[in-house]
Order: sequence, then C-alpha cells, then structure tokens
Amino acid sequence: KQKYTQKEKVYPTQCPFCSVQCKMQLVEQTSVTRKSYRTVGLMNPTSKGRLCIKGLNAHQHTFHTDRITHPLLKKDGEFVEVSWDVALEYIAKNIHDIQNEHGKNAMSVYGSASITNEEAYLMGKFARVALQTKYIDYNGRLCMSAAASAGAQTFGMDRGLTNRLEEVMYAECIILAGTNIAECQPTIMPYFEQAKENGAFIIAIDPRETATTKLADLHLKLKPGTDAALANGLLKIIIDEKLMDESFIENRSNGYAEVARHLEDLSLDEISEKTGIVRKDLYRAAVTFAKKATGMILTARGVEQQTDGSLAVRNFLNILIATGKIGKQGCGYGAITGQSNGQGAREHGQKADQLPGYRSIENDEHRTYIADVWGVEEPDLPRKGVSAFEMIQKMDQGEIKGLFLLCSNPIVSNPNARFVKKALKKIDFLVAVDLFMSETAKLADVILPTTSYLEDEGTMTNLEGRVTLREAAKSAPGEARHDWQIICDVAKALGKEQFFSYSCAEEIFNELRLASKGGIADYSGITYNRLRGNEGILWPCPSEEHPGTGRLFEESFAHADGKALMVVVPNEPMIVKEKPCAEYPLYLTTGRVMAHYLTGVQTRKSSSLAARHFESFMEIHPETAKQMNITDQTLVRISSRRGSIVVRSKWTATIRKDTVFVPFHWDESQNVNRLVEDKLDPTCRMPGFKVSAVQVETLDS
Ligand code: SF4
Repeated sequence: KQKYTQKEKVYPTQCPFCSVQCKMQLVEQTSVTRKSYRTVGLMNPTSKGRLCIKGLNAHQHTFHTDRITHPLLKKDGEFVEVSWDVALEYIAKNIHDIQNEHGKNAMSVYGSASITNEEAYLMGKFARVALQTKYIDYNGRLCMSAAASAGAQTFGMDRGLTNRLEEVMYAECIILAGTNIAECQPTIMPYFEQAKENGAFIIAIDPRETATTKLADLHLKLKPGTDAALANGLLKIIIDEKLMDESFIENRSNGYAEVARHLEDLSLDEISEKTGIVRKDLYRAAVTFAKKATGMILTARGVEQQTDGSLAVRNFLNILIATGKIGKQGCGYGAITGQSNGQGAREHGQKADQLPGYRSIENDEHRTYIADVWGVEEPDLPRKGVSAFEMIQKMDQGEIKGLFLLCSNPIVSNPNARFVKKALKKIDFLVAVDLFMSETAKLADVILPTTSYLEDEGTMTNLEGRVTLREAAKSAPGEARHDWQIICDVAKALGKEQFFSYSCAEEIFNELRLASKGGIADYSGITYNRLRGNEGILWPCPSEEHPGTGRLFEESFAHADGKALMVVVPNEPMIVKEKPCAEYPLYLTTGRVMAHYLTGVQTRKSSSLAARHFESFMEIHPETAKQMNITDQTLVRISSRRGSIVVRSKWTATIRKDTVFVPFHWDESQNVNRLVEDKLDPTCRMPGFKVSAVQVETLDS
C-alpha cells in the first residue's frame, strides 16, 4: 500500500531558456519506487502562465548525471576531481604567473548572457578590479550587440522593448523583421495572434517561411543580407508618397534631411532587384505601415547578425521615427532577445566598452563614479578592450595568454569555429565555469562546477526590461557553487578579498543599484523586497517610490537634446558580404529550432528536447535539391571557404531556391558556425552569421 503513497514538493522558479523568462514551478513527486517531475506555468504579466516545450523540460538537464559537481583539474591530459582549495590555488598561481610575465592584459574574461544581473555585474568588476585587464567581453556580443548599438545611437539608450509586450495588441500594423518568435519565444506569440484578431496587418521579413511568417498578411521573403536595403525601399516609398509624420520629424528628431536626400537618388527597381521583393509588395508594406494610426517594428538576429546589422536596425528605426510611431500606445520598437538574460547581462559592465548602468569606460566622469563605488582609484581602471571574437584573434596572435570563461561555449558559438578552436588551444591557461563538459570546457586546465537555474539566485531582466527575482529553489548538487561565489572565490585567491566580500546575491544587487544610479539603466529604486511577490519592475526606476517605466520616449528621447537621431544607411555595407558564386552557389543562413538553446550544451542533455531534434539538418528547396541530386533525408556535405560539415537534408518547399538553412545548436562536425564568415560589423563588432556562400554535395553514393 505504501508503494503508492506520494510526497509532493514544489520548486518555484523561471525558465532559463529565453528572454521571456516564463515563471513556472517544478513539482517533484516521490513514491517509494521513483521520483517524477512535472512543470506548471505560473501566472505573470509577460507569459501569463504559458510554457513552451523547453520550459516544460528544463529540469531534465539539471538532474542529468553528466553534471559537473566537483572542481576538475587536468593532469596528464585527464580531468581529476580536486578540492576547491587546490583548484583555487592552482588558478591564482597560473594567473599570477601569466600576468607577471606578460602583463595584466595577458588575461581575459569571457562572460555570458545566461547569468544573473548580479553575476554579470561581478564579471565586469572582476576583470577590472581583480585582474585589472581590459580584455573582457561576453557571448551577448554575438547576439544583441547590433540592436543595442542601434538603440543607443538612435534613441540615446537601449532597452529591448520600448513598451510593455501587452502593447503589441494595440498595434494596427506590425513588422516582424528577421524574428521567428513562434519557435524562439513561443509563449509571447499570443500577443501577435491577438493583435491580428484585433485587425492588425502583420508584415514578416524573412528569407524562410517559418511558423511566425505564417501569421503574416504579407511575407517579404528577401534575399539573405539585404535587410538594410529593404528598409531603404520602404522608407523611400513613405517619403515619396508623403506619408511621413512631419510634425514628429520636426520636433522630435535630427538627421531627416540627410536621409531624405540620400533616398532621393535610390532606384526602387534596384532595391527590388537587390532584395528580390517585387515593387508591389514593397509599396503594400510601406504604405500600410505608414497609414495605420499605430504600429510597431520588432527585429531579431535575422536582421542583426550581419556585418551591417547595426545600420540595418537603425534603418528600421528610421521608419519608426519618420512615421512618428514611437512613444505612444501601440507604437514602438522591440529587439526580441534570445538569451535568458540577454537584456540585463548587457547593462552592467560585461562589455568591452562598458561600466555598470550602461556607463562608458572611456568617459572620465563615469569612470570616477564607478571607481568610487568600487573603492579603487580611477586611473587603475583599465580602458576599453575589444569584442569577443577579437579577443579570440588576440589569443591566436599570442597577445592573450589566459582566459576565465563563464557559462559560454565559444568554440561552437563563434564564427569560423575551427579557427576559434585552434586559437583557444594556443593559450597557456583556461579556466571554464560550467554545468557540463562543453566542447570548450574540454580544452580547459581547470573546470569549476556551477549551479543551474533551479539552484541559482539573483535578478534577471526580461526582453521588456522588466527586472524579476529568481530565488534559489533547490540546493546545489555536490560541491557546485553559484557563479557569483566562484567569481568572488577566484578574486579572493588573487588577494582581492576586500573588493569581493559578499554573503549573498542581494548584497551584490545593492551595490549594482548604487553603481547604476544616475546611469541609463537605473536600477537604484529596485530592491529585493519590492521584487518579492511583485510582478517585476521595468527600468529605469530611479527611486524606491518610482513604479518603473513601462513606455519609453513618450516626451523625449535619451540624447542630450531629447531628440532621436536618424541616419543615412547605404544599400551596400562597408564590409562586403559573401555572395553566391560558381564555386559556392548558395546562400547559407542560420537560426534556431524550438527544442534547443544556444549551442545545445544544456538542451542536448534533456532527453525530451534531444528527441525532438537529435541531430542537425539542412533545409533546401526541392527544386534546388533535385538539380544537385540531393534526395530528402540523406546526408550532405556543406562546404564554405572556411570548412565543411555533414548534416541531413530536409526538403522544404517554402525556403528560397537560392538559400539553405542550418540551425546552430550542434557541435564539431555538425557545427554550422564552422562555415560562417568571421567578418565583423564595424560599429558593434557583431559577426555576420546570417550570410555566407556555400556549396552542397550529396554523400548518398
Ligand atoms: Fe518561456 Fe522561453 Fe522558456 Fe519557452 S524557452 S518556456 S518561451 S522562457
């Protein structure tokens, strides 16, 4: 009889697998014979209790027996378990040796956008105060840097969405540019479905037909890499047809006259030819968007991960400003973040050029303020370093000798991945902090075990800019420690204890509040007490009485004169993208599938998620496939100028005939980033992931 008695335990938490940060609870049922789990969505203002397949199965990787639960030290090529004391002493000695011999900047730090705000803040402080190196950047560089740079330059500040998500339902026209929300952030799709039910006209811009584009009234299936030119076409039509909001342009923006002059000389036939979109559809999109009373534009990696990604986003922002569709209900912009803390992790100092609160590391006033908060001298703070991929280039060149890597897998996630692996193998010392033996962790000298989303504590900021508190639901397995504890432990081992003495995440958050005070991302009015039992607070929140800011730019933008800045965007980027040629006749574009997250280190460990997609694949149009003798569901080799991979073909009649698509969640021989170009956007240093030229051959003999 007792066999059937069950005990139930409930762990409240939030999903770690995208920027919606769906609230949920994990229910653990224990009987005499077994333990089982189920996950239930919790009501909250963003996802409203909904969960997708990733959230429903998030616990599976957490309980996986492959979790690293003890510090590991590589001896004679094999990892052996050691105590924390031994690991920390070894790390401190190696860092001291490297910095004594080669200088402070011989050490580097590579962070993550999947960690808490407190940990992102500490990573920046760790690099600048404990290591005193200028070389710090993070994997968000590969994800959000184009949108962040565009927002900062056009509006004077960058927050993922300028409005609460619920305002989507009030938009009469919505442009979804390079974003596949239905697969990547499924629980917010109902906002767009509701908008459509309310009568909204939806325009999707994507080279592929996806679950998201199916919702659209008009799908502009453009040639990969031509988003900036397409936005020029739309803007030209709006101006030619005199559909601008002249009063908004006059009173709230700068730069319009130059943009209008530039567009005068552009030929719509050329834009049509370049983008592959017929003039009729360009007109329909432009005129519909401009004529509707309200409208929003949302972009994601499809537009942003290009060598002109920041300018392409700015061109979509030009459209918003020209039509006056920002700062009002149902009008605004959103960059749909991919990583779970893609927003918060980019605000508090993990970037090469940034101090907490979006302060600039090159601004003397900002440096002095942060130096005071940290209790160091301003001249001792390093200056600006370089972006994530450029740090790897410096490893290849021998300038960077050591790396402290936190919760990232750069040899899978960076472009030209074979080069990246070669560069990381060249450095003298690599410390990796991770849950699992990722492809990059395998190269490490020391691996430190960290906590998963269920065990971690701290605040996160979702795609709306809403700060939420995720408290630890379970204790850490084995000897795993929180990322913030690990950063402090290493800093202490380096002799910097006085700057890193915290007893809990809340203490770090209180320092972050002070560090962000008066900055753009001002968290100073947000406290743990306010967040407990609260539905989150949208920053900026400059005092404890302030309710948070739902809608930005109602009266002014964040530039000193209060105006937005429009910019001329060329049709052709300064950094030329690869184009198909005789040897490499197809465009390659990359993206996500619903079941996996980033490089798959966590989701490939979940049996339910892995079963959905246990291997990579290549979408190819059947007509193109037949010309190349490629049958459906057979192995193909895809090659670019940088290498080749082998994946399975998937005939897909809805993709462009000149384009193949491969998702990026797999490693080594299936890692599509081996094929991808490593040219960078000159403004934000985003690699051009979304456009490469490839050839495909069948392996079916
Ligand atoms: Fe929600 Fe995103 Fe997790 Fe899906 S992956 S449950 S949408 S947070």
